[in-house]
Amino acid sequence: MNRKQKILKEYLKANDGILHLSPTWVPRAFLNPGRRLKLVNSDIYALGKNRGGIDERWLASTTIADNGPGTPEDEGLSYIIIDPKSPKNRILLKEAIDLIGDQILGKHIIEKHKGWMVLTKFFDNMNPIPFHLHQDDIKAKDVGRLGKPEAYYFPEQLNFTYNNFPYTFFGFVPGTTREDIKKCLANWNQGDNGILNFSKAYALQPGTGWSIPPGILHAPGTLVTYEIQKASDVFAMFQSLVTGNSIEWNLVIKDVPQDKQENLDYIVDLIDWEANLDPNFKEHHFCAPKPVKKIEEMHAIGYEEHNIIYGMEEFSGKRLTVFPGQSIVNKENAAYGLIAIQGYGTIDKLPLETPTQIRYGEITNDEYFISHEKAKAGVNFTNLSKTENLVILKHFGPN
Ligand SMILES: [Zn+2]
Repeated sequence: MNRKQKILKEYLKANDGILHLSPTWVPRAFLNPGRRLKLVNSDIYALGKNRGGIDERWLASTTIADNGPGTPEDEGLSYIIIDPKSPKNRILLKEAIDLIGDQILGKHIIEKHKGWMVLTKFFDNMNPIPFHLHQDDIKAKDVGRLGKPEAYYFPEQLNFTYNNFPYTFFGFVPGTTREDIKKCLANWNQGDNGILNFSKAYALQPGTGWSIPPGILHAPGTLVTYEIQKASDVFAMFQSLVTGNSIEWNLVIKDVPQDKQENLDYIVDLIDWEANLDPNFKEHHFCAPKPVKKIEEMHAIGYEEHNIIYGMEEFSGKRLTVFPGQSIVNKENAAYGLIAIQGYGTIDKLPLETPTQIRYGEITNDEYFISHEKAKAGVNFTNLSKTENLVILKHFGPN
């Protein structure tokens, strides 16, 4: 056993299987930050204007942010706070899972998946994201990557204002053909390639979400989004101009094999045509919260819990609300990450608090990771407020 393994084992024991994580901020040079993630305004460009404003907070992340040249090697990765009194005393969650993954995720998960296979984040933009898709496993394999499903939930607590375009375009309207979309791709350099003329936007409702399998085109709107996705970074852009910003052709073909990069048939084959043309698209992809048990049963003991991201094999998400002054024991079958989005209290003997404002580089008490054994044994959540709910979001891996 090496020194870090020893530290981690002792830490896990002392914290009874709960890992305290620090905030992980990620800038995006090509987007305009929405300023609703509680990062103080003067720190939005803490990494330098050239690196872009911070518009994402990654949660329980073992995925490196693919932000190109000049990106620090730990960008996007979550740290475990070993000692809150000395913030430098920290270990990457990824490293911890590499070292003692059996104890964090469970032996069966390590054997089957080797690590934490999901990436969860809040993203927060002023303007919509260009219309794009993520390849499925078969197409992603052409470039040695994995396919990517994703799903969204829009927390009411973070959406106090909706920014410029709280609507998301999904899929195609009936009648759209391969030739129509090939023409849009051929017109890439002639201003707006007109692809949204073939799609339809849905108003985003705080407190609900959507699940989007690979191959479905989407242009996420401007609500703050809690997103769970498979940890993979494959995509293809299909929109050439969004709110006046040009999208370069290299973002269409980023994950297209070299010999296919001029082949429009290959590119339109990335689209799951049946799913994009589904006349009952909303029925098949919209996610209204579903109570995990009879609501009266839960209310009787001081809480309620809902599935908010569901219907996908690769990941799922829940929202737990503990009512004022109440204390509950909450069990799960697998390890999970969590973030508090309203209220304060305790998680076992540790503090659980939703911050009002966060400075770049500061630690918070809003994010934790619950190891496999602890999740099964049960976590105690206590709401210490007499007036306000304690609300947390939980992100789970496969199955
Ligand atoms: Zn996407």
